[in-house]
Amino acid sequence: MQGKPMQIISICGEDDSSRSRCILQLNEDELNKMFMDEKIKDRVVSVISVAGAFRKGKSFLLDFFLRYMYAKYVHNNLSEKDWLGDENAPLKGFSWRGGSQRDTTGILIWSDIFLYDNPNGEKVAIILMDTQGTFDCDSTMKDCANVFALSTMISSVQIFNIQSNIQKDDLQHLQLFTEYARIAMENTGKKPFQKLQFLIRDWFHRDEAPFGALGGKQLLEQTLIRKDKRPEENEQLCENVKSSFNEIDCYLMPQPGYGIEEPDFRGCLKDLRGEFKEHLRDFIPLILAPENLIIKEINGEKLKIDHLLTYIRLYFESFNS
Ligand code: GDP
Ligand code: MG
Repeated sequence: MQGKPMQIISICGEDDSSRSRCILQLNEDELNKMFMDEKIKDRVVSVISVAGAFRKGKSFLLDFFLRYMYAKYVHNNLSEKDWLGDENAPLKGFSWRGGSQRDTTGILIWSDIFLYDNPNGEKVAIILMDTQGTFDCDSTMKDCANVFALSTMISSVQIFNIQSNIQKDDLQHLQLFTEYARIAMENTGKKPFQKLQFLIRDWFHRDEAPFGALGGKQLLEQTLIRKDKRPEENEQLCENVKSSFNEIDCYLMPQPGYGIEEPDFRGCLKDLRGEFKEHLRDFIPLILAPENLIIKEINGEKLKIDHLLTYIRLYFESFNS
């Protein structure tokens, strides 16, 4: 693995004595360098983002995404050995950690952009994106909303990583974020975003729904989809969230086991519960396998990577003006 995380959007604190305020900064030079590479610039693009509150295992999960990506799209040896990796190898990539300090601020992408040539002739570039934790105590609601909105606008798949269950709070936040994003985009009457993937960590209510995609579907039916099941007070909220995305899915993950609480835990597979590993093996291809990739579209048109840069710049300006 040669790549590294690249910060494309950062949040900077600015103290003007009376109050502190945050400004977003776009790292345009790095983006230009990455996206203008001859090998990728004419490709359509699939952008997979993971977002949600901080310290909920987003970067940790993305590092397993990376293992799949290198095995499948770089070394092309998915079937030869277990892509999930060596039992004793520390987990590397996007930086993840214990403790209560957050790590990622703003939006990061993995510097290696992965390539896939579809047998139908379509040439695809795949980008993995990590997003700063939302609602931590030292950034304001507006900055959080901006970062989440931007990552939703840039991505073709937004993975909303949440702890334990889908709560009314989560839906409210989602509604706020997508509202910000809608305002920044032209209103074309179409659904503005492509796929929303809820990922529930540490699912405990197995009597209600089993782990995995099937259980996720059941939970989604109850909280978001079925009018006769979801609470009446969430009516408008659910409709708003549903009308923003083309496709909504949900996956229920088991708890990784108590090994993660050890002070010397380095993310080795041997310290994770079998059940958790099984569900990583199941979930990750649902997002990253060639047949499941979603190409980024804007106003119904597939986007090439050099245009993505233009859009990022435009969106970014609309937030910082
Ligand atoms: P992020 O801020 O959301 O990116 O969180 P990190 O990826 O940095 O992980 C924060 C902590 O959560 C680490 O100590 C991980 O060991 C731990 N962690 C990772 N996955 C899970 C999970 O599924 N459940 C729980 N409870 N903890 C996890
Ligand atoms: Mg992180």
